[in-house]
Amino acid sequence: MAPSTLPAMKTNPKFVFFSDFDGTITTRDSNDFLTDNLGYGEKLRKQSNQEVLHERESFRDSFQGMMDSVKTPYDKCIQTLVENIKLDPGFKEFYDWARQNNIPVVILSSGMEPIIRALLLHLLGPVAEEIQIVSNQVAPRDGKSINEEGGWQIIFHDESHFGHDKSLEIAPYQQLPDSERPVMFYAGDGVSDLSAAKETDLLFAKKHHDLVTYCVKQDVPFTEFEDWSSILATVKRIAAGETDVKTVAAEGHEAFKKETLFSNASTAFSNSLSLPPILLFTSSPSAPASASSYKPRSVSSSVRAASRSSSAYTVFFSVSSAAISNSSRAVAYWSWSFSMMASAEDLSA
Ligand SMILES: [Mg+2]
Repeated sequence: MAPSTLPAMKTNPKFVFFSDFDGTITTRDSNDFLTDNLGYGEKLRKQSNQEVLHERESFRDSFQGMMDSVKTPYDKCIQTLVENIKLDPGFKEFYDWARQNNIPVVILSSGMEPIIRALLLHLLGPVAEEIQIVSNQVAPRDGKSINEEGGWQIIFHDESHFGHDKSLEIAPYQQLPDSERPVMFYAGDGVSDLSAAKETDLLFAKKHHDLVTYCVKQDVPFTEFEDWSSILATVKRIAAGETDVKTVAAEGHEAFKKETLFSNASTAFSNSLSLPPILLFTSSPSAPASASSYKPRSVSSSVRAASRSSSAYTVFFSVSSAAISNSSRAVAYWSWSFSMMASAEDLSA
């Protein structure tokens, strides 16, 4: 059989890691930074994000408006970003390990290639030249050069709603015969990552970001990550054959559901302490039919953090016992608590 012409298959890897760039490999989004500091500002950007969220504007049009608001010469934009954008703390170690272990990293981005390349070279050094980047581009406006005031414009990758449909690059890898097809990973943080995430074998979704919400809504399996050190640990275990992508995805989804249910129980409890018992009982959410129908309530980071540890159960019940002096309220509360815990178990079964 003819060797594959797909860029990441040159070295016949067993694994390929696709990743979003902004907010995933970097700690903050470079396009947001440009818009907030050199374009029309944070307030208008957030308004535009809301328009997209409520489907009154396409992601593509919203993003075009943000980039059009930046009149600064392109070389100055790059310089500003190089001075301000930082890598995720674990990415360099991940990338070095992936290189040594024949795991190509392919960046699929809604940003612009020259900016991504410049940031990677600055943050990773010359090895960054090897990284394949699939993204939007930049071009001069009529009669201008990109490095003069108002001289550049974004050129979208394709005709999709997002300007770059990230699944297009991955689809040909899916078509490879089983003997050649690598195991594919994806890491991302936003809604434009969803189409790509559906095409790969294991999705790492950044904790507390939009992608998690969309995955829950659409029942796309995922595992959460906070930084690339946890991605590295998981990929190492998979590469060593200690676990596999299906197991990690199933464990990740289960951990997320339990955490969310417990966080909501904690919040609902603290919110309802001042309510009479009957309200306390009836205000409890019923067990959701599926993870996709479950709507997480916003909870404080300390509650989220506490709910991650099993000892939090002990603390939670001790505090609640002390807080409830009235016995009828206690009975109502305890029934409700156990129904919450039972639903967590049902969902993970
Ligand atoms: Mg992103």
